[in-house]
Amino acid sequence: MGEDEIRALREVVESGWLTQGPKVSEFEIAFAEHHRVDYAVAVTSCTAGLHLALVGLGVGPGDEVIVPAFTWVATANAVLYTGAEPVLADVDRTTFNIDVADVKRRIGPRTRAVIPVHLFGLCADIDSLKDIIPKDVTIIEDAACAAGAEYKGRRAGGLGHVGVFSFHPRKSITTGEGGMITTDDSDLASHLRRLRDHGANISDEQRHSGSKPYLMPEFDELGFNCRMTDLQGAVGLVQLDKLDRFINERKQWSAYYRRELADLGWLRLPEEPETGRHAWQAFVTYVNPETAPKPRNEIMTALEAAGVATRPGTHAVHQLGHYRKRFGFSDDDFPGARDCAADSMALPLHNRMTDEDYERVVESIRNL
Ligand SMILES: *Cc1c(COP(=O)(O)O)cnc(C)c1O
Repeated sequence: MGEDEIRALREVVESGWLTQGPKVSEFEIAFAEHHRVDYAVAVTSCTAGLHLALVGLGVGPGDEVIVPAFTWVATANAVLYTGAEPVLADVDRTTFNIDVADVKRRIGPRTRAVIPVHLFGLCADIDSLKDIIPKDVTIIEDAACAAGAEYKGRRAGGLGHVGVFSFHPRKSITTGEGGMITTDDSDLASHLRRLRDHGANISDEQRHSGSKPYLMPEFDELGFNCRMTDLQGAVGLVQLDKLDRFINERKQWSAYYRRELADLGWLRLPEEPETGRHAWQAFVTYVNPETAPKPRNEIMTALEAAGVATRPGTHAVHQLGHYRKRFGFSDDDFPGARDCAADSMALPLHNRMTDEDYERVVESIRNL
């Protein structure tokens, strides 16, 4: 972030309209256009967006929703919030994304939806997924990491029935906290607009800019407060303008990593997809435990000591306390997710890093 975001914030502060208003609307329209979908609905986070999307689709107790076992816990938590049951599917160790063959094994009569995750910015293989799921099973994309990603000429957020993005600072563009739901379904979009605003059937903007001062909304269903502030909307607009530049810059540095580290047989590097565009939210490698000079955690510790910050890609949901206790999972239930959690390693990739920073990362890894 920089001066442009500060100017955008100042404008909102001076306007006096602080929450979900004209800036949020503008951000929604621009975001929908960029991701080539008809509607975008801003919310407080991707987690809240996944929850609302599930509620909006009528998912609830008695239903099952398939989610990958290697993802941020929020993907599965959102299913639990609705009273439905998350059914974990294993992931592919090469792409880190959901294993379609395993999804197929886990589909049952109660399956209502699948939430493929475009992990680290690489789109899940949606066409293969569509081939194996029944027609009445809905695809909800967890596109938290995938702003600007493409799959066979289509953009993330428009690959399933509904998609959800995150603007947490760990993602490519940020509003501090925030999320966006995308869809081509106009009824669902209107429903989501009500759900995020306590169930109100008209927005505050409509209420306060009309000519009927006595007007109050109807509240026909249980809603939530998931409104994005106009402060965030204004920052989001500026950030969205920078998205392509951010991705292109990260793409160049990921190519640099692949060039400079290609000959290290023990470290598998993420590739560009053959048909599509990686959004490079993160550059997540895989340490081959059989050939690496040391176990992953020791490698990470050595790099930390050299001033290079690495992190695991993410965690495996079935290994988290709440899920272990609630579903009785053990580590080996999802071997792909277990291995990805144990051996993935994100290298530094950020638009504020300098040439020297990247060179230092490479040198420190080669020194191992
Ligand atoms: C970051 C992330 C989320 C959560 O996003 P929030 O905006 O923090 O709620 C969900 N799923 C995945 C895959 C993520 O990476």
